[in-house]
Amino acid sequence: MSSEARRPASVREVVEHGLCIGCGLCEALGPYRWKMTMTGEGRLRPAPLGEETPQADADILAACPGVVTEATANGPEYDEVWGRYAHMGEAWAGDPEIRFRAATGGVLTALGVHLIKSGKAKFILHCTADPAHPVRSKWVMSETPEDVARRSGSRYGPSNTLAGLEVALDRGEPFAIIAKPCDAGAVRARAKADPRLDALLVAVLVMVCGGASDLGKSWMLLDELGVPEEDVTVFRYRGYGNPGRARVETKDGRAFERTYEELWGDEAGWRIQTRCKLCPDAIGEAADVAAADIWPGAQPEGEDAGFNGIITRTDTGQHLMQSAVKSGDLILGKDHTPRDYDHFQPHQVNKKRAMAARLRGLSRAGWPVYAHAGLRLDTLDTGDEREEQGAHDRALNGRFAEKLPRP
Ligand SMILES: Cc1cc2nc3c(=O)[nH]c(=O)nc-3n(C[C@H](O)[C@H](O)[C@H](O)COP(=O)(O)OP(=O)(O)OC[C@H]3O[C@@H](n4cnc5c(N)ncnc54)[C@H](O)[C@@H]3O)c2cc1C
Ligand code: SF4
Ligand code: SF4
Repeated sequence: MSSEARRPASVREVVEHGLCIGCGLCEALGPYRWKMTMTGEGRLRPAPLGEETPQADADILAACPGVVTEATANGPEYDEVWGRYAHMGEAWAGDPEIRFRAATGGVLTALGVHLIKSGKAKFILHCTADPAHPVRSKWVMSETPEDVARRSGSRYGPSNTLAGLEVALDRGEPFAIIAKPCDAGAVRARAKADPRLDALLVAVLVMVCGGASDLGKSWMLLDELGVPEEDVTVFRYRGYGNPGRARVETKDGRAFERTYEELWGDEAGWRIQTRCKLCPDAIGEAADVAAADIWPGAQPEGEDAGFNGIITRTDTGQHLMQSAVKSGDLILGKDHTPRDYDHFQPHQVNKKRAMAARLRGLSRAGWPVYAHAGLRLDTLDTGDEREEQGAHDRALNGRFAEKLPRP
């Protein structure tokens, strides 16, 4: 990246430049200064509780995914696009009920369940539907295998799992995190300043991530169904099959379903957040394990029994996978190669290759951008001038700009 690249110097700058993904770390590290708040567009963003003091937020900015990103994977295998890894292959949960309920084949849930059953972790910090507002997600600490399994499934709207990080650390017990790749990056960066993370965090598990929609996507579906948000009792995006259907249930006993294709067929309606369009690591290069969909061309060909791709990225991840297989919590299928992943995830390959140009466009527009290390954005740079100009123009015409919410 060019040496003129400017970093955001405050939480406000991160948010106003579309670099906040709403991970929740602001609230965890500055609970008297920041409160995660749902904006009118349906994005979780930190709202200032008093006067803003960027100096007091130095610890937040040192780990915020809008300011720093870094690959920490150290597996023995290497691919320029897919990074460091130890194993890539097919996998699914050994428990057929988990496999059925989960987003794909239940790999993340099976590993979380295994960590608790084996005593390696006392609890899992992850997210689930908010019981009071099931359209929204909230962070939660699951302490039993049943709780982890009950909270399986992908939530495509905003999630602020890291708002629970300090509460989790204060327990002083070993735990694991299941979250998004950007959350994993923030946790690794935070570990440089908080030694409790190295001592207590036994594994970081993520999904390969195509981007988090704002909640406006879910509100659009409710509008189409004529259901007010306060009447919703269940809001599921997928699962109960692979990919399964989105399902909405209401207080008066009605139920609605949409197929994956009906919900996601039109890319124009995805309402993906800006940080996702600028994401340098949606493939989990700061995690111990990443789990993915493995549909050819990223399109499901219909319902199936649930097959994940699993990528172990560290020794910890590799040992966890092997231990889960030994106990029957996880089942492995055939091996994959990085070229298989190019086929499963063409959008991730394109994004990795386009990112350096997008960042250049932003810098040229005077926009601050995050630092990146070990993510190979410069070696993968295709020098695409349209990508660079597009990002430049979007920055200047306000398409990437956001407002800091009020609490
Ligand atoms: C926003 C989003 C975008 C995705 N895009 C892609 C993609 O482009 N390509 C691809 O291969 N796969 C993508 N996935 C991943 C896919 O949907 C599955 O999550 C993944 O295959 C793991 O499946 P699983 O059966 O192992 O997960 P499960 O066993 O069902 O476990 C899911 C776990 O993830 C946690 N979780 C769910 N939603 C969120 C969230 N929004 N934020 C943080 N934690 C969450 C849950 O708490 C649960 O612990 C995406 C997932 C999400 C949430
Ligand atoms: S990405 Fe996370 S740490 Fe950064 S501003 Fe947003 S909520 Fe705070
Ligand atoms: S695309 Fe990147 S920034 Fe967006 S939610 Fe996924 S990992 Fe986070």
